[in-house]
Amino acid sequence: MPFQPLPEDQPSCTVACSACGHRWLVYEQQLGLLGSCPVCGAARPRYMGSVAPGSGRQVSFGRFRALLDEPRLLTLIGQALGLRPLGGERFADAQGREVPLEDVHFALQGNAGWQGQVYNLHMSRAR
Ligand SMILES: [Zn+2]
Repeated sequence: MPFQPLPEDQPSCTVACSACGHRWLVYEQQLGLLGSCPVCGAARPRYMGSVAPGSGRQVSFGRFRALLDEPRLLTLIGQALGLRPLGGERFADAQGREVPLEDVHFALQGNAGWQGQVYNLHMSRAR
């Protein structure tokens, strides 16, 4: 079974491929389970450390999921990541391949600007 984040989990660990230099974020619980590099297919990426803490603007997976009925979030996902909603918490890329919701969450959390936009949506809901 693929890794399923808990509602409060944050992708907080940066890993890098030693072959092509691609970097991406994973959940701490995924560190022991990493497969090959998604870009070049080389074996096991290296752990580079955690994301700089203290932005205070992270939105957990559970809160992100609760925002999926927000049209502005779907617009952001479309513009930032080029994904279109399929409904029912499912997204597809330009080639029509389904992208796991965990990937959508950590792609947005891995960019300070996008992370801030998601955070603002969450805060405008929370009030
Ligand atoms: Zn690579």
